[in-house]
Amino acid sequence: MKRLRILVTGGAGFLGSHLCESLVKAGHDVICLDNFFTGSKVNVEHLMDHRNFELLRHDITFPIFVEVDQIYNLACPASPVHYQYNAVKTIKTNVMGAINVLGLAKRIKARVLQASTSEVYGDPNVHPQKESYWGHVNPIGIRSCYDEGKRVAETLFFDYHRMNKVDIRVMRIFNTYGPRMHPNDGRVVSNFIVQAIKGEDITVYGDGKQTRSFCYVTDLIEGMIRLMNTEDFIGPVNIGNPSEFTIGELAEKVIKLTGSKSKIVFKSLPSDDPKQRQPDISLAMEKLNWKPAVELEKGLRKTIEYFQKNLDC
Ligand code: NAD
Ligand code: UDP
Repeated sequence: MKRLRILVTGGAGFLGSHLCESLVKAGHDVICLDNFFTGSKVNVEHLMDHRNFELLRHDITFPIFVEVDQIYNLACPASPVHYQYNAVKTIKTNVMGAINVLGLAKRIKARVLQASTSEVYGDPNVHPQKESYWGHVNPIGIRSCYDEGKRVAETLFFDYHRMNKVDIRVMRIFNTYGPRMHPNDGRVVSNFIVQAIKGEDITVYGDGKQTRSFCYVTDLIEGMIRLMNTEDFIGPVNIGNPSEFTIGELAEKVIKLTGSKSKIVFKSLPSDDPKQRQPDISLAMEKLNWKPAVELEKGLRKTIEYFQKNLDC
């Protein structure tokens, strides 16, 4: 294996920390860049003493100069609660962050991968979602700073590729869960597990009939690394687990697996909340020979175990 120098922006976050861990384990030199908005040093604490790992406090809305072979661009809060906290900052992180990593990749001739999202499909009226679908996105709603920010980032990636021959990869990540999700980040899997462990009410938004398809983190990271290292295929490509569940079903599963006495309560549905979401992963299967291996119950058990160990109840 060739030892590479790799920059991971957003490396101290949920997905970033798992990615850094896999890359260090594979023997690469990893620079983890983060401004610690939603990520934390605790997520990468176990890598700190490793000689292949460096942590850099930096905000990706400002230019960065480092010499690397590959860049994974993950910097951006992913949970609706966090990306709506400072919507202007979210769109700046997406747009200026993309310009900064693409400018860097162009100068140093590095390959650069964008962590895009299923949110580019918005509230989809095509189901399941294929990469050829252009989406159904509100440009002025409360999710737009994230959805449209990620869409502009994809545009920038493809324009730098067409104009400057930057070696890009674009992956569209569908809901992913697992250990090191922030306990207060407001995403559904962490919310339900934390509520169940604490014996608090499980908050289902709307009638709970909206669907999501949940991918376990190790599967996602495997797909991401495969995309980065596959030649002659730049994406965009969906990476996610096609097994689709209603949010009500997820709540029931979490109650069953934790053995919790928590009750389900219904709260109002946030605006622009997509009604359904399921990836068509035939392109990932064909081009990357990738499909997820961890089914929901198994992944939930591992995530529950993590929160049981790490929550101060
Ligand atoms: P996360 O919030 O745990 O991680 C994001 C990381 O980026 C954090 O460490 C945060 O501190 C950092 N960050 C935010 N703004 C920054 C800035 N301006 N400069 C430097 N660092 C900054 O979220 P995650 O779930 O790990 O998501 C990682 C990436 O994957 C994001 O780009 C997200 O949009 C994308 N994604 C995730 C999911 C998912 O289900 N987890 C789904 C679709 C897309
Ligand atoms: N959701 C919920 N209760 C919660 C948090 C989220 O019912 O405590 C719902 C939310 O309205 C959405 C789904 O779960 O329909 C997934 O939400 P999440 O924020 O995890 O991701 P996204 O909406 O970005 O897919």
